[in-house]
This record gives sequence, C-alpha cells and structure tokens, in this order.
Amino acid sequence: MSTPPHTVDAFVEAFLRELNVGQGVSLARSSVNDQALALARTVRHHLMARWLEAIATQRRSPVKAVGYLSAEYLLGRQLDNALLATDLLDVVREGLAACGLDLDTLRDAELEPGLGNGGLGRLAACFVDSLATMNVPCIGYGIRYEYGIFRQTFVDGRQVEQPDTWLTLGSPWEFPHPESAQQVDFAGYTETYVDDDGQERCRWVSGWHVVGVPYNYMVPGYRNGRVNTLRLWSARATKEFDLEIFNSGDYADAVRARTFAENITKVLYPEDSTPQGKELRLQQQYFFVACSLADYMFEVLPRDFDMTRLHERIVFQLNDTHPVIAVPEMMRLLVDVRKLSWDDAWAVTQKCFAYTCHTLLPEALEVWPVDLIGRLLPRHLEIIERINAEFLAEVRERFPGDELRVRRMSIISDYPERGVRMAHLATVAATKVNGVAALHSELLRDKVLPDFSEMWPERFTNVTNGVTPRRFLKQANPRLSDLVTEAIGDGWITDLDQLQGLEPLADDAEFRARFRAVKRSNKERLADLLRRRDGYELPVDSMLDVMVKRLHEYKRQSLKLLHVVSVYEQIVSGRVDPASVVPRTVVFGAKAAPGYRMAKETIHAINCVSAVVNDDPAVKGVLSVVFPSNYNVTLAESLIPAADLSEQISLAGKEASGTGNMKLALNGALTIGTDDGANVEIRELVGDDNFFLFGMLEPEVATLAEHYVPSRCYEEDDDLKRAIDLLSSGAFAGGDRTAFEPLVSNLLYEDRFMALADYRSYVDAQSRVDAAYRDPDAWARAAILNVARCGFFSSDRSMRDYIDRIWHTEPAPAGE
Ligand SMILES: *Cc1c(COP(=O)(O)O)cnc(C)c1O
Repeated sequence: MSTPPHTVDAFVEAFLRELNVGQGVSLARSSVNDQALALARTVRHHLMARWLEAIATQRRSPVKAVGYLSAEYLLGRQLDNALLATDLLDVVREGLAACGLDLDTLRDAELEPGLGNGGLGRLAACFVDSLATMNVPCIGYGIRYEYGIFRQTFVDGRQVEQPDTWLTLGSPWEFPHPESAQQVDFAGYTETYVDDDGQERCRWVSGWHVVGVPYNYMVPGYRNGRVNTLRLWSARATKEFDLEIFNSGDYADAVRARTFAENITKVLYPEDSTPQGKELRLQQQYFFVACSLADYMFEVLPRDFDMTRLHERIVFQLNDTHPVIAVPEMMRLLVDVRKLSWDDAWAVTQKCFAYTCHTLLPEALEVWPVDLIGRLLPRHLEIIERINAEFLAEVRERFPGDELRVRRMSIISDYPERGVRMAHLATVAATKVNGVAALHSELLRDKVLPDFSEMWPERFTNVTNGVTPRRFLKQANPRLSDLVTEAIGDGWITDLDQLQGLEPLADDAEFRARFRAVKRSNKERLADLLRRRDGYELPVDSMLDVMVKRLHEYKRQSLKLLHVVSVYEQIVSGRVDPASVVPRTVVFGAKAAPGYRMAKETIHAINCVSAVVNDDPAVKGVLSVVFPSNYNVTLAESLIPAADLSEQISLAGKEASGTGNMKLALNGALTIGTDDGANVEIRELVGDDNFFLFGMLEPEVATLAEHYVPSRCYEEDDDLKRAIDLLSSGAFAGGDRTAFEPLVSNLLYEDRFMALADYRSYVDAQSRVDAAYRDPDAWARAAILNVARCGFFSSDRSMRDYIDRIWHTEPAPAGE
C-alpha cells in the first residue's frame, strides 16, 4: 500500500491519475461526474490501508464484536464524511483549485444513498459512526437497495414520487465481493432423517434460492485510524437457477426469473412507522439476515469455531423487529447445519441477540401471517412453534391457571388471523430489550409489553438515542464548530459533554454577538440553497421556524399548519396589526408514504397555504411558509444549522424518541415541544426557561382518549374555529371549498392524535416564543445554553450505554 498523498501536489497527482486511468478521461474533457468519481476514489485510498488492517485484526483477535442488524441505513453523502475523518479537507480544496475545479461543485454531484426512511435508518448510520470513532469492532449488516427512498417532487402542490436512481452515475464508495456471496433458500418443505450417529434430524428441502452478494462500505472513525465495515447485501439469481431455465429453452422465462430473484433488493419500502405486511418485505428481511448470520458465523469466524461459545465473539443488535427472523435462522444454523442439540443451541442463541423497540404505535408492530411464513420459510415456522411451546410452558409454570395471560404473551396470535408477533419473538430471545428514550422505555414496559416486563423485569432497559456530532455539528455547521472550538478547544468532537464549557459564555455579550452572526450566516447559506434549489426567497431577518421529519399524523404537521393559518387569519381579518407580529418563516420538510392518504392531503394543504401566504402583500415581511421538496440528510445538513425554532409537537406518548429534536437543539435552536420522547430529556437538561413546553401529558392523553370529541374544541375556541373555517372556505384553493375536505373532516370528526385538543396550549406557547424572540440577545443566550447542555445527545454516549448495559464489549486493541 503506497503512502497516501497528504500534500497538495501529491493529491493532485493521485487525483489526475484516477481521472485518467480510473475514469479514462483527460481533465480537459472530463464531466463533473467524472471528476466527482475520481475524487471519491482518491479520497478512499486514504482509508483503505486502515480498513484492511481492521478487518485483519478482527479476524485474528478474540475481541467481541457488535453485529448491527438493520434493514435501513440512511447514510447521507459519503465524501464530506471521509474528508472529515481523514482531515483532508484543506488539501483537497486546494488541490482541486489548482486543477481549476471547485470542491463544492463536486460535492453537490454526489447523490446520497437513501437506504432508509427517516429516523430509524439515520440512527443506524449514527451508531456505526460512533462505534468506529470509539474503536469498537462492529459490522453493520443491511440491504443494498437498488432504489432507495423515493425522490419527492411536487406537482400542483401534491407529492409525486420519482424513483431514486442513486447508483446510475457510479458508486465509488462501495466494494462488491461476489466471491463471498451467500446462498439463501426459500419455500419447499422439511423432512426428518436419521444422521450417521443415529440421531433424528430435520432437513429443509428448499423450493428456490437466490444468492446474496455483499457490498462493503467503509465506516471511518474520526481521525483514530479505525475503519469498520458496513456490509450491504444485494440479491442475484444463481447460476444453477440460470442453467435450469436455459435448459427449459424459454429465454423470456429465464429473464423473468432473473428479475424475480433480483427483485428482493430492488426497492426500499417507503413506509415509516406503519409497515405493510407484504411478502416481498419478508423476503427482504430473511434474505439479509440469512446472508449476515452465515457471513459472520461461517466466514468471519474460523471454520472450526465452537458455536457454543458464539456469544463470546458477537452480539447481534436487532434494530426494530425487521431483522427478528434472525432468531429462528440462528437456531436453524446451529441445530440443522452445525448439529448442536436444541437446548445448547437455544442457550447460545439467547445470549447472542438484543432487541431495540422503536415504537408505541400498535400498528407498527410487525405480525407476519403464519401461512406466509409457513410457505416461504417452512423450517423457521417449525422452529418458532417450538420456541413458542417451550416459552408458553414457562409462562404456565410461572402463572398457573392464567390462560388469558398465556394467550396475550404467545408468540403466535390467533386473531384476526394466525400470525407471528415479531416483537414477542424478539423479547423471548433477547438478553435485553430497550426503548429509545426514558419515557418510551417506561411506556414500553408498562403498556406495550407489560406481561413480559412482569415476567422478566431485568430484561428491560433504556438507551436514549443520540446523533453523531461529527456529521451534525462539525460537518453540517462549520461556522458554529469553529466558534465552539475557538472557545473550548476541539475535544468536544469526540467527547460532546465538553460543550458544557460553553455555559459561562452564554453570559458573554461578545460571544452572543458572534453566535448570532453564525446563525445569520447559516441562514444566508440556506437562502442561497433554497433559491437555487426550489425557487424560494428566504427572508433571512425573520425567525426560522422549522418542522422537518416524516409526514405522519402522530407527528402533527396539521397542528403546525393550523398555527400558520391562525396567524395569517388574524392579520388578514384585521384583528392583529402586522406591525406587532414577530416576522417568521415557517419551514416544512417531509416525505409521506406513497399510500398514506391523509399524509399526502396534509402536504397538499401546506403547499396551497404556502402559495397564498407567500403571495399576499398583507403578510409580506411578517409570515412566509416554505416547503422544499425531498427532505433528506443532505437537506437536513443545510436546514438545521439555520434554525431558530425546532418544532417537536407529536402527541404525548406517540414519538418514541426523535433524533431531529437532538440535531436541532445541538445547533442552537430552541424547542417548542410536547412532553414526549426525548423532548422530556432535552427539557430536563436545557432547563424550562430554554424550552417551550405545551400540550397534554401522556396520562392526560390516555384519559381524554376515552371521551374525546374534537368538534367540541372547534366550537369552543374562536381562533381555532376561524382557522378551520378559513381552511374550508376555499381561500387557499382558488375558491374550491372541497379541496381540504378530507383533512378538515378528519380533524373535526376523528383526530386520532388530538391536534385540536392541544391547539390552544400550542398557540399560547407560540406567543411565548414570539415574546422571547423579541429580545434577540436573551434568545441567543438561551440558544447557547441549548448547545452547551446537549452533549448528552451524542450517539457516542448512546453507544457507551449499549456497551455498559447490553453488549459488554470492549474497544479493540490498537492496531499495529
Ligand atoms: C434525523 C432525521 C430524521 C428523523 O427526524 P425526527 O424529527 O426525529 O422524526 C428523519 N429524516 C432525516 C433525513 C433525518 O436526518
């Protein structure tokens, strides 16, 4: 391995070589895409030696590793992250300039791998970043979707989905390894036979199979020389498969069959929080965990490894229920393939898994029809049935005569159809079950899985989510990073609690002025972007009020919209003098699941309101609403550093944690939020004075749910009534009174997430926000205190908690 070029000259030489030899073009004739690909390859050279070393050390050393199993990784762009990890930013910028090229242009040419829907996938990406930075051996396992999360466009204000073709211009950050492919079986039947030792055993005779080809991605630690691996699997038809069809002589059939196999990893399901029980999704889930377990157990570990000691070498973290089919798969590998006894296999399996639950919504807990599992994975169904039988015997022993409890706890449900409750399977198999924020873990114990927590209280724990400060502060907000580093040094980048050192500076007038200048310049940067990207004129002098996250009824974008309409209505009706209003720009960013009707209606309504409000001279300079399309990690990195106000307004008890809330607070936005998810912990840490709390508490929500009549809120609150009436009047839809009918009647007559019940409390809190913003210096003080007190929300701390409470792993010995 040649030494990496750390000087500008050496970089230029390596870059031009990549361009000429790798891309096959001269600098003069190269496209931006040629240049971006050559740059990526030049930068990745720097990480290669470390990466190979980490892989070699992992094979040699007996240190326990983490296998993070996640169906989603929302990585964001790779170039910036690699430049940050290798500290090459300045060399590369200068070197490119010497070639007459601009780094920012090449950076913008990269399409982010959108292999996740939102928070859950982004969390996985933050976690692997932190583990690499903390020098903990980890392999992230997942799926290489050919099409990631769709690209959102708006046509007449309505969401239209376009396929995400992230691979078409080349993917310089991945390394395919067809020689390490794994075969994955499906369907068929099982049979018993007697083995050479006279033991009765089970054999799965599959109906068809595909192969999984691993694509490796580098996960560099922050300037610590460690590079971990993210291994994403792609489905291919097998050679045997081809041959068989070739022999049948039907070429068209052959091509169709190939497509059938490769469909498995073709596209990410775009549902967030409410998955659909589609067969292809179960195929995806099994496909990637089967590849991953076989890869770790039979390729990474030595061939003759004693599987009764597997838990000494690996712990698999199940990121939600998506990978839970890994539990029966490990049993199958141990019992059928490695010929362990059932009891020995179960003992080790139970030590190898831990489960993270990410939800409180009952509709988000996956239940697979028994028929479907039986058809697709017949051996796994038998294994699940045996696990269940033994588990229920244990329940009956602990709680004799309590058959209702047995039915509640059963892994297999009988109603409405026979189904496998994946959360129950995960809980039975796992060493630990964790929620993702303190409140969520409490509700998980008491409301979602109360029978299980009664039986095994010690199995339940909490790990509050976190975000990586490398991407979401250092990289996304270079100006604030520089200001912080100048004040307290750069130790915060890997030890975020050091931000506490900023606390005294909140009282320093000069520091506050500099902090405000940073915010202002971040807004200008955002304004440039939105002008080019979406044609918006962002007023940089106004308060930037930001609500960015997936569109979901429980998150209550409709409540934010009601607030906007109220402010607008009060001005145009003459009840409020526009001169007395604190100027605001409301920013929405949100994708809706393509089949989620109410979410898409909400998007349409926001866009219609935005068009009218932005065009009305009556509110000019006072209120505007921008909704840039296609919210993703790249856009988040520009929006979040510019935000003044962070909207975290889910109905209490519905948002498991949230991580957008952490990113925004860390970048000096003040939160207006309910007592929900990690908002609770943010408020505890930043203090009540620096957080705008509103809305019902979770127990009040539970009580009100028994007799809630939303239309009564409408009748009883004049401002709310006026806002809803204006929405229904056609004023935002060219006179069409029916335009928002589905949305409005849903709010008035159903309102499952009680937006109307929290409306009054919310708009009152917004008045407190306005009052606070009128004193820019006091606002800056509160914003600085948010930054100073949010070190807890580093994903490094989350990883420390997983290590201490769940994994019991150690950092690796330093490499040679
Ligand atoms: C952080 C993040 C999310 C999660 O946002 P929440 O507000 O926690 O729901 C979703 N999408 C993207 C692109 C993110 O970066």
